Amino acid sequence: MAARAGRPLTRGTPMARRKLIYEGKAKILYEGPEPGTFVQYFKDDATAYNAEKKAVIEGKGVLNNRLSEFFMNGLASIGIPTHFIKRLNMREQLIRQVEIIPLEVIVRNVAAGSMAKRMGMEEGAPLPRPIVEFSYKDDALGDPLVPEEYIIAFGWASQQDLDDIVSIALRVNDFMSGVMHGVGIKLIDFKIEVGRVWDNDFQRLIVADEISPDSCRLWDIETGQKLDKDVFRKDLGSLSDAYTEVARRLGVLPSNVTHAPTKPTLIN
Ligand code: UDP
Repeated sequence: MAARAGRPLTRGTPMARRKLIYEGKAKILYEGPEPGTFVQYFKDDATAYNAEKKAVIEGKGVLNNRLSEFFMNGLASIGIPTHFIKRLNMREQLIRQVEIIPLEVIVRNVAAGSMAKRMGMEEGAPLPRPIVEFSYKDDALGDPLVPEEYIIAFGWASQQDLDDIVSIALRVNDFMSGVMHGVGIKLIDFKIEVGRVWDNDFQRLIVADEISPDSCRLWDIETGQKLDKDVFRKDLGSLSDAYTEVARRLGVLPSNVTHAPTKPTLIN
């Protein structure tokens, strides 16, 4: 892009000119270069407890951009379609535009978080089999858990869609559990979002949003150390150190990269 006379382009200029589609807690969506595409920008902002707790964790966006690329590419390689097209730079990736189904699709292998609380279970108690559950994406309501009846009655998804979503979620669970197990990490639970795309007249469901330590619970198999957003939620240490460790073990970062811990900055 040529700079206009007298107005040299600064590093921030291209982003400022792009059309903003949506700004969420941890990511921003911009209009993409071609119809049917978006650019997904990963921020350093961390939020927990429905955004009651907030901080800026330097480098988190860069790590999650890389990690989400790694997981989405892995899913594609075993035939699970995703919205990911390609990584553009340190913080941005090109994605397919989808119509997001307003559900958080959660898969649990071990009791933790809201499930442990709701059911009066010990964090870490194994479950008899992977459990898939759905929360309605609505911050004002605190993303309430919803039964399939609600999802179908309110028209968010059909029974066929739900069957497909459960099947995708369990395949993602098998893939992610295996990848994590290979680097000494237990996948406790995770959240995915699913979007609709149309190829001519055919609707397909694909994995959207992101897959990163922000949306998974990851515990070291040997020590039980938490390597996910619970480090931030529960003030257990440096979040960027934890995410860097996950990325390093997966080979997403070269193992000789040393991370200088930085203090989270409160943005309340
Ligand atoms: N999760 C998420 N976004 C949400 C809610 C949950 O990514 O808005 C992830 C969370 O990180 C965990 C899994 O989904 O890996 C299950 O979360 P849970 O229902 O236990 O809720 P939490 O304890 O995070 O409130």
